[in-house]
Amino acid sequence: MRPQSPSQDPAVRGTILVMPDLPDIEVLALAKRWVTRDQTVPALEGISLTVAPREFLTVLGPSGCGKSTLLSIIGGLIPPDAGEVRVTGRRSAGPDPRKVAMVFQDPGLFPWRTALENVEFGLELQGVPAARRREIARGLLEPVGLRGFENRYPRELSGGMKQRVAIARALALDSPILLMDEPFGALDEQTRLLMGEWLLGIWAKTRKTVVFVTHSLQEAIMLSQRIVVMTSRPGRIKASFEVALPMPRDLNGPEATALRAALWAEIRDESLRALESGL
Ligand code: ADP
Ligand code: MG
Repeated sequence: MRPQSPSQDPAVRGTILVMPDLPDIEVLALAKRWVTRDQTVPALEGISLTVAPREFLTVLGPSGCGKSTLLSIIGGLIPPDAGEVRVTGRRSAGPDPRKVAMVFQDPGLFPWRTALENVEFGLELQGVPAARRREIARGLLEPVGLRGFENRYPRELSGGMKQRVAIARALALDSPILLMDEPFGALDEQTRLLMGEWLLGIWAKTRKTVVFVTHSLQEAIMLSQRIVVMTSRPGRIKASFEVALPMPRDLNGPEATALRAALWAEIRDESLRALESGL
């Protein structure tokens, strides 16, 4: 329920109702195994998690610990074996772009479509008329710094630009929740940090609920209001950190340094275990 509206009930009208926001995402006792021809991989076990409206939550964990599996289940792309996911109070059953948009590490743009046409794609599927589509897409490419690049094809754009087109495409759906799976993972460290700054600007304007997946401590500290650390496979939630540092964050300041050490203490053993089991 958001935004909170004054009660229509005459008995309570006039009183101040302080209702806590319902969580946007509730993950309850989730489990998932991947079954292939020669083995069964327990990917997630007993994952419970809530994400508040407008929260920026980062899921941090070693490679292969089930981060993408978790995000795909939250996004309704794959069903869990056990447990459930509720999105804005309702049990999720399949993807619902009105509620949830997703961005992946691979921007996944259509090479035969221009930047503008790529951003328009979801709106086309929703049956939005052409002129309106165009207007919305232009309005999204400008704040992502791609004004003047609307008619370029993906092959004519840098990696960072392509990823911004993919994010603009997700924003075009205007869903309250954005799931991001290592969206800057393929970019170099500097571009990655700049893209992080840029994303924070977008988040401050749109106030979406964001679940951001990364294996980068730096990125997690830079962006998040809360960081949950996952164990190596099967992924469980190992620790949770509230990050109350003011924005923009000084990644080399004493608080960020202490947080990085604490995160590293949690994640080191997991990364080692992942490495040793050849994940
Ligand atoms: P992460 O995103 O943290 O790197 P994933 O969620 O991609 O981890 O994978 C978790 C585990 O599940 C890995 O061991 C991976 O090999 C396995 N896995 C992921 N997707 C599939 C799939 N479609 N089929 C079989 N196994 C999979
Ligand atoms: Mg992944």
